[in-house]
Amino acid sequence: MRIVIIGAGVIGLATAWRAAQGGATVTLVDPAPASGASSVAAGMLTPVSELSYGEEPLLRLGLASRDRYGAFAAELAEATGLDTGYRDDGTLQVAFDADDLKLLDDLRAFQESLGIPVEALTGRECRKTEPMLAPGVRGGLLAPEDGSVDPRRLAPALLAAGERLGVRLVRRRAEGVLVERDAAAGVRLDDGTGIPADKVLLAAGPWSGDLGGLPPGTVPPVRPVKGQVIRLRTPVPFLRRTTRGLVKGSSVYLVPRADGEIVIGATQEELGFDTRVTAGGLWELLRDARELLPGITELEFAEVTAGLRPGSPDNAPLMGPTALPGLYLGTGHFRNGVLLAPVSADALAAMLLDGPVPAVAAPFSPARFAPEQQ
Ligand code: FAD
Repeated sequence: MRIVIIGAGVIGLATAWRAAQGGATVTLVDPAPASGASSVAAGMLTPVSELSYGEEPLLRLGLASRDRYGAFAAELAEATGLDTGYRDDGTLQVAFDADDLKLLDDLRAFQESLGIPVEALTGRECRKTEPMLAPGVRGGLLAPEDGSVDPRRLAPALLAAGERLGVRLVRRRAEGVLVERDAAAGVRLDDGTGIPADKVLLAAGPWSGDLGGLPPGTVPPVRPVKGQVIRLRTPVPFLRRTTRGLVKGSSVYLVPRADGEIVIGATQEELGFDTRVTAGGLWELLRDARELLPGITELEFAEVTAGLRPGSPDNAPLMGPTALPGLYLGTGHFRNGVLLAPVSADALAAMLLDGPVPAVAAPFSPARFAPEQQ
């Protein structure tokens, strides 16, 4: 089985590795591997803390993926000797004022109605858990099983693991899908050459809708959703675990890494393919982060970046076959692509290799957006 994957972000990379493990001959096509959202993302693995109303199937997918992460990270480390910065030390979510606390109480009621254990903490208990929190923090929720990973370590580890199994990386832009006898037959590159394939997986993040040669009905409805993040550095431990906060209704998060990096994110902006970092975006993040953790103003500034999440109409991924035989989608992972990489890779590799697909992935077929269903 020859498989070509367009896009070497976390989704394409993880699927390439799993498909190669399954015996396929895999080629990854990307002019700049892991240069999209995967290089900007904070790497939170927080399906419980990020639960939203109406997204229960996505919650189940997120929980399934989070629960695979420990073994996934260990397998990658075993295969490559590379550490992904995986942590499973829980996520604290805190409220700045009484209205924010009310929103957290509602969230806890929703989480508990779905049978998900979370621990309610008073303000004092929050500060005991995270001593740098501001004295005014009203209370919070601890999701003990949520965690984080460093996407900038994860992507190279995935690439190395794939290459060890023979995955070939072609550093070129895919311009289109080759179609022969009404089926996908490979990928056309920007130098005019083609790579023949039995199956093609389109995993080019928010650019997945831009490829040429896609017949009507197969173009994925994905769009870029901009997010700006700030990276700080600290020589001494500042935060023990991922801390998310609600500050007068606005959300902010801080993700600490073992090497002293702290990622503060993220804005959410509908501005097309715009990756400019703006003064207003940074100001909002720093303003809210400082309300929760006043000491962050003392930390060293390291970097600001903006990335584009691959958004879909229902905020959930599109994974599976399209109306064009041989063409599959693995995109639309929006805010959760890093979290969802293990379960998505398992599901997509199974589909590409005609194996059994995990039931948890079934609700995410691209068929839900097929024209006849709209
Ligand atoms: P991408 O990572 O965008 O990769 C797409 C790849 O396709 C790129 O390497 C690009 O070069 C390539 N490409 C594009 N066009 C072509 C072409 N024509 N030919 C060949 N290759 C092409 N998720 C989490 O789970 N947890 C988080 O904490 C988190 N935080 C985030 C914070 C921010 C600010 C942002 C922006 C995103 C965050 N995400 C998070 C979301 C996550 O980053 C994405 O869902 C995930 O990276 C999507 O992965 P992907 O492989 O689909 O796309």
